[in-house]
Amino acid sequence: MRSEALRVEGLFISYDGLPVLSGLSLEVRRGELLGLLGPNGSGKTSLLRAISGVLKPDSGEVLLDGRPLSRLPPRERARRISVVPQGTSLPQGFTALELVLMGRSPHLGFLQWEGAEDLTIARRVMEMTDTWQFSRRPALSLSGGERQRVLIARALAQEAGLLLLDEPT
Ligand code: ADP
Repeated sequence: MRSEALRVEGLFISYDGLPVLSGLSLEVRRGELLGLLGPNGSGKTSLLRAISGVLKPDSGEVLLDGRPLSRLPPRERARRISVVPQGTSLPQGFTALELVLMGRSPHLGFLQWEGAEDLTIARRVMEMTDTWQFSRRPALSLSGGERQRVLIARALAQEAGLLLLDEPT
């Protein structure tokens, strides 16, 4: 796993003509942890969505190791950036382990099943987040906090260099 150097340059984001971010720039070096604080509605989630490539900014650029994110194919982006979104809804019918294994999909070939190495990684990250004991439980039966830890495990299983956490606690 390699940490990414992230650079955001002059980001403008608006919704229906209403500006949310106006010319935001920041830099995160390898191994650095950056926390964002701000009131509700100040644009933290919008910024994270732009960094992960889900939201196209009006203008400005997001660079990973100097390469514009907009030029990375989605699969490569998924190998390099993992996200723990805020209040996400979980798909029905999956165990916690299956959910964590979904984090491995950017590393698998087309229609390829997860193998022994993927299982080893899933177990390791579930032990790190103290969720291995839930591995066979339906993910939807977990408490809010337990579920959040499983989603953090899923993001870690992705082994991306850049981890984006939106209200992870
Ligand atoms: P934060 O994460 O800091 O609470 P957000 O980035 O979620 O802030 O939201 C910033 C502002 O943009 C808020 O006023 C929010 O209502 C608005 N907003 C966010 N997403 C949309 C959207 N899809 N359409 C219209 N307005 C939005």
